Amino acid sequence: MNEEEITEAKAHLLQMREEVLAESERAYEASQSLGKDGVPDIGDMSSNSYNQEVLMNLSETQRSRVRDIDAALERMDEGVYGLCMRCEEEIAQRRMEVRPFSRYCIDCKTEVEQFGE
Ligand SMILES: [Zn+2]
Repeated sequence: MNEEEITEAKAHLLQMREEVLAESERAYEASQSLGKDGVPDIGDMSSNSYNQEVLMNLSETQRSRVRDIDAALERMDEGVYGLCMRCEEEIAQRRMEVRPFSRYCIDCKTEVEQFGE
């Protein structure tokens, strides 16, 4: 990966990070207003707790996304960005464009998913 590609990937990562944070803020505000409607009847309660669950799952995904992004930014600082953390080969550019926080090349990713890290 050349310098220009890394600069571009960094901008992309930072933008993704902001989007996740803005999204989780909206989700948080939504969860706050869900609880403000006084005492719900039974019907409301079940849909209310369903919503809460969705929001909680969402924020777990978002948290791990932010962790992935931060780890990618760290690898940029260390000069190992774009290299597979397992076989140390360069990860395909196409894959890095789709998922700029990828840690493994596609082969290792498949193995990690099957056998663990
Ligand atoms: Zn690999």
